[in-house]
Amino acid sequence: MTADNGSLVVKDLRVSFDGFVAVDGVSFDAHPGEVRFLIGPNGAGKTTCIDAITGLSKGTGSVMLGDQELLGKSTQKIVRLGVGRTFQTASVFEQLSVLQNLDIAAGLHRSSLALLRARRGVDPAIEVALEETGLSAERETPAGILSHGQKQWLEIGMMLVQDPRALLLDEPVAGMSQDERTATGELLQRIAQRRIVLVVEHDMDFMRRYASRVTVLHQGKLLSEGTVAAVQADPRVQEVYLGT
Ligand code: ADP
Repeated sequence: MTADNGSLVVKDLRVSFDGFVAVDGVSFDAHPGEVRFLIGPNGAGKTTCIDAITGLSKGTGSVMLGDQELLGKSTQKIVRLGVGRTFQTASVFEQLSVLQNLDIAAGLHRSSLALLRARRGVDPAIEVALEETGLSAERETPAGILSHGQKQWLEIGMMLVQDPRALLLDEPVAGMSQDERTATGELLQRIAQRRIVLVVEHDMDFMRRYASRVTVLHQGKLLSEGTVAAVQADPRVQEVYLGT
């Protein structure tokens, strides 16, 4: 089966480390227009799934982005095919301003023609990313003195300037205040209007408020899948979460 053009389709994904099966035949898909969540207790295999999708871990099965198979490709190639990813700890250049961080990220993506154009002024993609992430007023601020939430939004902005088709976010609201969580949820909903957004999350409250569809992993396997209401009503999910 081929994926709908523009969707991320994971089929029978399996990842092992020295014989230990961390992801055991997991299948799910994510489409533009929805904020897709991957949840589960610690050690369920969530991060390993997105590591495999982004080429950081080797897996078997299939990961299609539109009509392109991602498994077996290098991380660099996967980024070029349009997959952006954030990690649990934001990796921004602390000494550089917000604008300089975005400029570096955009430079990784630009064609030489776009580079020439950009020299004449600020890249329009950077202006859009500043606006979208709510960082317009912080453009000259060194990234090192941004709040924790603002650093995460800058990292998301650094992906957006590369115009990805899919954004994979690993626990984006960990350590954030309630206001920052709300702003992040709203940002992800805006981004998801045009792109695939897949969120790995531990925070059930954030998932309840912003998920369109949820896949629950447990011990490397798919435990449950569906809307927030369906997943929450699933006795298997309740058992796993009450038991942790
Ligand atoms: P989650 O993100 O759901 O907390 P992970 O994907 O990080 O879970 O881990 C799933 C399982 O795989 C855990 O038991 C973890 O210890 C194991 N694991 C993850 N990465 C490695 C690795 N590089 N080497 C060995 N085991 C690993």
